[in-house]
Amino acid sequence: MNAVVLSPATVPALSVVVPVYNEMEVLPEFHRRLAAVLDTLQRACEIVYVNDGSHDGSGALMQQLAAADPRVVAVELSRNFGKEAAMTAGLDTARGEAVIVIDSDLQDPPEQIRAMVDQWDSGVDIVLMQRSSRAGESWLKRWTATQFYRVIGRIGEVDVMPNVGDFRLMSRRAVDALRTCRERTRFMKGLYAWVGFRQVVLQYDRDPRFAGETKWNYWRLWNFALEGITSFSTAPLKIASYAGLLVAMAAFVFGVYVMIKTLLFGDPVQGFPTLITVVLFLGGVQLMALGIIGEYLARVFVEVKQRPLYVVDTIKGHGQP
Ligand code: UDP
Ligand code: MG
Repeated sequence: MNAVVLSPATVPALSVVVPVYNEMEVLPEFHRRLAAVLDTLQRACEIVYVNDGSHDGSGALMQQLAAADPRVVAVELSRNFGKEAAMTAGLDTARGEAVIVIDSDLQDPPEQIRAMVDQWDSGVDIVLMQRSSRAGESWLKRWTATQFYRVIGRIGEVDVMPNVGDFRLMSRRAVDALRTCRERTRFMKGLYAWVGFRQVVLQYDRDPRFAGETKWNYWRLWNFALEGITSFSTAPLKIASYAGLLVAMAAFVFGVYVMIKTLLFGDPVQGFPTLITVVLFLGGVQLMALGIIGEYLARVFVEVKQRPLYVVDTIKGHGQP
Protein backbone atom coordinates (compact mmCIF):
# COMPACT_ATOMS: atom_id res chain seq x y z
CA MET A 1 0.00 0.00 0.00
CA ASN A 2 1.50 3.31 -1.04
CA ALA A 3 -0.88 5.36 1.07
CA VAL A 4 0.44 8.31 3.04
CA VAL A 5 0.44 7.09 6.64
CA LEU A 6 -0.92 9.44 9.28
CA SER A 7 0.54 9.90 12.69
CA PRO A 8 -2.21 10.66 15.20
CA ALA A 9 -1.11 14.28 15.46
CA THR A 10 -1.10 15.27 11.78
CA VAL A 11 -4.19 16.77 10.23
CA PRO A 12 -5.26 14.86 7.13
CA ALA A 13 -5.76 16.78 3.91
CA LEU A 14 -8.92 14.90 3.13
CA SER A 15 -11.56 13.14 5.24
CA VAL A 16 -14.16 10.90 3.68
CA VAL A 17 -17.30 10.52 5.81
CA VAL A 18 -19.34 7.37 5.18
CA PRO A 19 -22.64 6.67 6.99
CA VAL A 20 -23.23 2.94 7.22
CA TYR A 21 -26.50 1.22 8.08
CA ASN A 22 -26.81 -2.50 7.37
CA GLU A 23 -24.40 -2.45 4.45
CA MET A 24 -22.49 -5.65 5.19
CA GLU A 25 -22.76 -6.93 1.61
CA VAL A 26 -21.36 -3.74 0.10
CA LEU A 27 -18.81 -2.54 2.62
CA PRO A 28 -15.78 -4.67 1.57
CA GLU A 29 -16.20 -3.72 -2.09
CA PHE A 30 -16.85 -0.10 -1.14
CA HIS A 31 -13.69 0.07 0.94
CA ARG A 32 -11.64 -1.60 -1.80
CA ARG A 33 -12.75 0.95 -4.39
CA LEU A 34 -12.44 3.94 -2.04
CA ALA A 35 -8.98 2.89 -0.81
CA ALA A 36 -7.81 2.43 -4.41
CA VAL A 37 -8.84 5.99 -5.24
CA LEU A 38 -7.29 7.49 -2.09
CA ASP A 39 -4.02 5.64 -2.80
CA THR A 40 -3.65 7.54 -6.05
CA LEU A 41 -4.22 10.95 -4.42
CA GLN A 42 -0.83 11.01 -2.69
CA ARG A 43 -1.99 12.95 0.32
CA ALA A 44 -2.89 12.19 3.90
CA CYS A 45 -6.44 10.91 4.00
CA GLU A 46 -8.76 9.52 6.64
CA ILE A 47 -11.94 7.52 6.17
CA VAL A 48 -14.58 8.06 8.84
CA TYR A 49 -17.06 5.19 8.87
CA VAL A 50 -20.10 5.90 11.04
CA ASN A 51 -22.02 2.80 11.98
CA ASP A 52 -25.57 4.02 12.45
CA GLY A 53 -26.69 1.16 14.69
CA SER A 54 -26.56 -1.58 12.04
CA HIS A 55 -27.89 -4.93 13.10
CA ASP A 56 -26.09 -7.00 10.48
CA GLY A 57 -22.33 -7.57 10.58
CA SER A 58 -21.43 -4.05 9.38
CA GLY A 59 -20.06 -3.02 12.78
CA ALA A 60 -17.67 -5.97 13.01
CA LEU A 61 -16.59 -5.42 9.40
CA MET A 62 -15.84 -1.78 10.16
CA GLN A 63 -13.66 -2.79 13.09
CA GLN A 64 -11.73 -5.16 10.82
CA LEU A 65 -11.21 -2.38 8.29
CA ALA A 66 -10.02 -0.07 11.06
CA ALA A 67 -7.56 -2.70 12.27
CA ALA A 68 -6.21 -3.33 8.77
CA ASP A 69 -6.08 0.23 7.41
CA PRO A 70 -4.56 3.03 9.53
CA ARG A 71 -6.59 5.62 7.60
CA VAL A 72 -9.87 4.28 8.96
CA VAL A 73 -11.68 5.88 11.89
CA ALA A 74 -14.63 3.78 13.07
CA VAL A 75 -17.42 5.62 14.90
CA GLU A 76 -20.09 3.41 16.47
CA LEU A 77 -23.33 5.15 17.38
CA SER A 78 -25.30 3.69 20.27
CA ARG A 79 -28.35 2.96 18.06
CA ASN A 80 -29.86 3.92 14.69
CA PHE A 81 -30.21 7.70 14.61
CA GLY A 82 -30.86 8.09 10.88
CA LYS A 83 -28.58 9.12 8.05
CA GLU A 84 -28.63 12.84 8.81
CA ALA A 85 -27.46 12.29 12.39
CA ALA A 86 -24.89 9.72 11.27
CA MET A 87 -23.45 12.21 8.78
CA THR A 88 -23.34 14.87 11.49
CA ALA A 89 -21.42 12.49 13.72
CA GLY A 90 -19.01 11.89 10.85
CA LEU A 91 -18.58 15.61 10.17
CA ASP A 92 -17.94 16.23 13.88
CA THR A 93 -15.26 13.52 13.93
CA ALA A 94 -13.56 14.34 10.62
CA ARG A 95 -10.40 16.43 10.94
CA GLY A 96 -9.50 16.93 7.28
CA GLU A 97 -8.89 20.24 5.52
CA ALA A 98 -11.62 19.09 3.18
CA VAL A 99 -14.40 16.62 3.87
CA ILE A 100 -16.25 14.44 1.39
CA VAL A 101 -19.57 12.82 2.29
CA ILE A 102 -20.37 9.67 0.33
CA ASP A 103 -22.94 6.84 0.57
CA SER A 104 -21.63 3.39 1.31
CA ASP A 105 -23.88 1.57 -1.16
CA LEU A 106 -21.69 2.50 -4.18
CA GLN A 107 -24.45 4.63 -5.70
CA ASP A 108 -21.96 7.47 -5.50
CA PRO A 109 -18.89 6.22 -7.38
CA PRO A 110 -15.75 6.78 -5.25
CA GLU A 111 -13.79 7.31 -8.49
CA GLN A 112 -15.40 10.80 -8.68
CA ILE A 113 -13.35 11.87 -5.66
CA ARG A 114 -10.33 12.66 -7.82
CA ALA A 115 -12.29 15.22 -9.85
CA MET A 116 -13.74 16.69 -6.65
CA VAL A 117 -10.32 17.13 -5.09
CA ASP A 118 -9.06 18.79 -8.29
CA GLN A 119 -11.86 21.37 -7.98
CA TRP A 120 -11.01 21.95 -4.35
CA ASP A 121 -7.36 22.50 -5.28
CA SER A 122 -8.50 25.24 -7.64
CA GLY A 123 -9.92 27.14 -4.67
CA VAL A 124 -13.66 26.44 -4.33
CA ASP A 125 -15.20 25.64 -0.95
CA ILE A 126 -17.99 23.35 -2.04
CA VAL A 127 -18.04 20.78 -4.82
CA LEU A 128 -21.60 19.57 -5.44
CA MET A 129 -22.22 16.33 -7.26
CA GLN A 130 -25.33 16.49 -9.40
CA ARG A 131 -26.92 13.31 -10.69
CA SER A 132 -27.32 13.43 -14.43
CA SER A 133 -29.05 10.07 -14.37
CA ARG A 134 -30.82 8.12 -11.68
CA ALA A 135 -30.36 4.53 -12.75
CA GLY A 136 -32.42 1.96 -10.89
CA GLU A 137 -35.02 4.42 -9.59
CA SER A 138 -38.70 4.27 -10.50
CA TRP A 139 -40.40 7.03 -12.50
CA LEU A 140 -42.59 7.74 -9.46
CA LYS A 141 -39.53 8.44 -7.31
CA ARG A 142 -38.07 10.67 -10.01
CA TRP A 143 -41.35 12.53 -10.46
CA THR A 144 -41.91 13.09 -6.74
CA ALA A 145 -38.31 14.28 -6.42
CA THR A 146 -38.82 16.85 -9.21
CA GLN A 147 -42.05 18.11 -7.60
CA PHE A 148 -40.34 18.38 -4.23
CA TYR A 149 -37.50 20.51 -5.62
CA ARG A 150 -40.07 22.74 -7.34
CA VAL A 151 -42.06 23.36 -4.17
CA ILE A 152 -39.04 23.96 -1.97
CA GLY A 153 -37.56 26.20 -4.66
CA ARG A 154 -40.66 28.39 -4.64
CA ILE A 155 -41.43 28.67 -0.94
CA GLY A 156 -38.16 27.82 0.78
CA GLU A 157 -35.80 30.47 2.13
CA VAL A 158 -32.72 28.81 0.60
CA ASP A 159 -31.98 27.62 -2.92
CA VAL A 160 -31.76 23.85 -2.84
CA MET A 161 -29.99 22.54 -5.92
CA PRO A 162 -32.12 19.90 -7.68
CA ASN A 163 -30.73 16.37 -7.92
CA VAL A 164 -27.87 17.08 -5.57
CA GLY A 165 -27.71 14.71 -2.64
CA ASP A 166 -25.28 14.40 0.22
CA PHE A 167 -22.40 13.39 -2.05
CA ARG A 168 -20.19 16.49 -1.95
CA LEU A 169 -16.89 18.00 -0.91
CA MET A 170 -16.74 20.78 1.68
CA SER A 171 -13.76 22.84 2.78
CA ARG A 172 -12.89 23.06 6.46
CA ARG A 173 -14.55 26.45 6.93
CA ALA A 174 -17.73 25.23 5.24
CA VAL A 175 -17.81 22.17 7.50
CA ASP A 176 -17.25 24.33 10.57
CA ALA A 177 -20.09 26.63 9.52
CA LEU A 178 -22.36 23.64 8.96
CA ARG A 179 -21.44 22.24 12.37
CA THR A 180 -22.73 25.37 14.08
CA CYS A 181 -26.25 24.38 12.96
CA ARG A 182 -27.30 21.99 15.69
CA GLU A 183 -31.01 21.90 14.94
CA ARG A 184 -32.76 18.60 15.62
CA THR A 185 -34.94 18.51 12.56
CA ARG A 186 -32.01 18.19 10.21
CA PHE A 187 -32.85 18.81 6.62
CA MET A 188 -29.28 18.56 5.40
CA LYS A 189 -29.97 19.72 1.82
CA GLY A 190 -31.30 22.97 3.24
CA LEU A 191 -28.50 23.33 5.77
CA TYR A 192 -25.83 22.86 3.11
CA ALA A 193 -27.47 25.56 1.02
CA TRP A 194 -27.79 27.85 4.04
CA VAL A 195 -24.01 27.73 4.63
CA GLY A 196 -23.31 29.23 1.20
CA PHE A 197 -19.69 29.82 -0.02
CA ARG A 198 -18.34 29.51 -3.53
CA GLN A 199 -19.44 26.28 -5.15
CA VAL A 200 -19.12 24.34 -8.38
CA VAL A 201 -21.40 21.62 -9.65
CA LEU A 202 -20.05 18.46 -11.26
CA GLN A 203 -22.26 16.00 -13.12
CA TYR A 204 -22.09 12.30 -12.47
CA ASP A 205 -24.06 9.17 -13.26
CA ARG A 206 -25.65 7.72 -10.18
CA ASP A 207 -25.24 3.96 -10.22
CA PRO A 208 -27.82 1.50 -8.97
CA ARG A 209 -27.22 0.10 -5.52
CA PHE A 210 -24.39 -2.47 -5.51
CA ALA A 211 -26.22 -4.79 -3.08
CA GLY A 212 -28.78 -4.63 -0.30
CA GLU A 213 -31.78 -2.35 -0.52
CA THR A 214 -32.69 1.27 0.00
CA LYS A 215 -33.85 2.36 3.45
CA TRP A 216 -36.28 4.83 1.96
CA ASN A 217 -39.90 4.05 1.29
CA TYR A 218 -42.49 6.56 0.16
CA TRP A 219 -43.75 7.25 3.66
CA ARG A 220 -40.23 8.15 4.80
CA LEU A 221 -39.74 10.26 1.69
CA TRP A 222 -43.01 12.10 2.37
CA ASN A 223 -41.92 12.84 5.93
CA PHE A 224 -38.54 13.91 4.62
CA ALA A 225 -40.26 16.36 2.27
CA LEU A 226 -42.40 17.73 5.14
CA GLU A 227 -39.24 18.16 7.19
CA GLY A 228 -37.62 20.08 4.37
CA ILE A 229 -40.53 22.41 3.88
CA THR A 230 -41.29 23.09 7.53
CA SER A 231 -37.68 23.70 8.51
CA PHE A 232 -36.97 26.15 5.71
CA SER A 233 -40.30 27.86 5.07
CA THR A 234 -43.15 29.32 7.07
CA ALA A 235 -45.34 29.69 3.99
CA PRO A 236 -47.74 26.86 4.98
CA LEU A 237 -48.58 28.77 8.18
CA LYS A 238 -50.00 31.56 6.05
CA ILE A 239 -52.39 29.19 4.28
CA ALA A 240 -54.84 29.38 7.19
CA SER A 241 -54.96 33.18 7.09
CA TYR A 242 -55.59 33.36 3.37
CA ALA A 243 -58.03 30.44 3.28
CA GLY A 244 -59.91 32.11 6.16
CA LEU A 245 -60.03 35.42 4.32
CA LEU A 246 -61.34 33.80 1.14
CA VAL A 247 -64.00 31.85 2.99
CA ALA A 248 -65.14 34.93 4.93
CA MET A 249 -65.50 36.93 1.73
CA ALA A 250 -67.44 34.12 0.04
CA ALA A 251 -69.66 33.82 3.12
CA PHE A 252 -70.42 37.55 3.01
CA VAL A 253 -71.48 37.40 -0.64
CA PHE A 254 -73.56 34.30 0.04
CA GLY A 255 -75.17 35.99 3.07
CA VAL A 256 -76.26 38.97 0.99
CA TYR A 257 -77.71 36.61 -1.62
CA VAL A 258 -79.66 34.63 1.00
CA MET A 259 -81.02 37.80 2.62
CA ILE A 260 -82.23 39.28 -0.66
CA LYS A 261 -83.78 35.97 -1.67
CA THR A 262 -85.61 35.74 1.67
CA LEU A 263 -86.94 39.30 1.38
CA LEU A 264 -88.19 38.74 -2.17
CA PHE A 265 -89.50 35.19 -2.00
CA GLY A 266 -90.07 34.45 1.72
CA ASP A 267 -88.38 31.66 3.59
CA PRO A 268 -89.95 28.21 3.53
CA VAL A 269 -87.58 25.90 5.48
CA GLN A 270 -85.02 24.43 3.12
CA GLY A 271 -81.29 24.52 2.56
CA PHE A 272 -80.12 21.44 4.41
CA PRO A 273 -77.73 20.45 1.56
CA THR A 274 -76.05 23.89 1.52
CA LEU A 275 -75.84 23.89 5.31
CA ILE A 276 -74.21 20.49 5.62
CA THR A 277 -71.80 21.23 2.75
CA VAL A 278 -70.66 24.48 4.33
CA VAL A 279 -70.28 22.96 7.79
CA LEU A 280 -68.27 19.99 6.56
CA PHE A 281 -66.12 22.07 4.26
CA LEU A 282 -65.27 24.56 6.99
CA GLY A 283 -64.62 21.71 9.44
CA GLY A 284 -62.13 20.23 6.99
CA VAL A 285 -60.38 23.54 6.38
CA GLN A 286 -60.09 24.19 10.10
CA LEU A 287 -58.63 20.76 10.81
CA MET A 288 -56.13 21.19 8.01
CA ALA A 289 -55.01 24.56 9.37
CA LEU A 290 -54.69 23.03 12.85
CA GLY A 291 -52.65 20.19 11.37
CA ILE A 292 -50.22 22.61 9.74
CA ILE A 293 -49.78 24.50 13.00
CA GLY A 294 -49.30 21.10 14.67
CA GLU A 295 -46.45 20.23 12.28
CA TYR A 296 -44.57 23.35 13.30
CA LEU A 297 -45.45 22.95 16.96
CA ALA A 298 -44.11 19.38 16.93
CA ARG A 299 -40.80 20.63 15.58
CA VAL A 300 -40.60 23.36 18.19
CA PHE A 301 -41.28 20.68 20.81
CA VAL A 302 -38.44 18.49 19.53
CA GLU A 303 -36.14 21.51 19.38
CA VAL A 304 -36.72 22.84 22.90
CA LYS A 305 -35.76 19.52 24.46
CA GLN A 306 -32.19 20.18 23.33
CA ARG A 307 -31.25 16.54 23.18
CA PRO A 308 -27.94 15.65 21.55
CA LEU A 309 -28.17 14.74 17.87
CA TYR A 310 -26.56 11.34 18.38
CA VAL A 311 -24.85 9.28 21.05
CA VAL A 312 -21.44 7.75 20.37
CA ASP A 313 -20.72 4.26 21.62
CA THR A 314 -17.04 3.95 20.62
CA ILE A 315 -14.52 5.68 18.35
CA LYS A 316 -11.51 3.78 17.05
CA GLY A 317 -8.75 5.39 15.01
CA HIS A 318 -7.15 8.83 15.35
CA GLY A 319 -4.54 6.90 17.29
CA GLN A 320 -7.19 5.98 19.87
CA PRO A 321 -7.29 2.31 20.91
N1 UDP B 1 -28.01 5.23 6.11
C1 UDP B 1 -27.70 5.50 7.44
N2 UDP B 1 -28.70 5.47 8.39
C2 UDP B 1 -30.01 5.20 8.06
C3 UDP B 1 -30.31 4.96 6.69
C4 UDP B 1 -29.30 5.00 5.76
O1 UDP B 1 -26.55 5.75 7.80
O2 UDP B 1 -30.85 5.17 8.95
C5 UDP B 1 -26.92 5.28 5.09
C6 UDP B 1 -26.83 4.02 4.22
O3 UDP B 1 -26.00 3.04 4.80
C7 UDP B 1 -26.21 4.58 2.94
C8 UDP B 1 -26.78 5.99 2.88
O4 UDP B 1 -27.20 6.32 4.20
O5 UDP B 1 -24.80 4.68 3.02
C9 UDP B 1 -27.91 6.12 1.88
O6 UDP B 1 -28.96 5.21 2.20
P1 UDP B 1 -29.85 4.54 1.10
O7 UDP B 1 -29.00 3.96 0.02
O8 UDP B 1 -30.79 3.61 1.79
O9 UDP B 1 -30.66 5.78 0.53
P2 UDP B 1 -30.92 6.15 -1.02
O10 UDP B 1 -29.60 6.03 -1.73
O11 UDP B 1 -31.90 5.15 -1.51
O12 UDP B 1 -31.44 7.55 -0.98
MG1 MG C 1 -28.49 4.47 -1.84
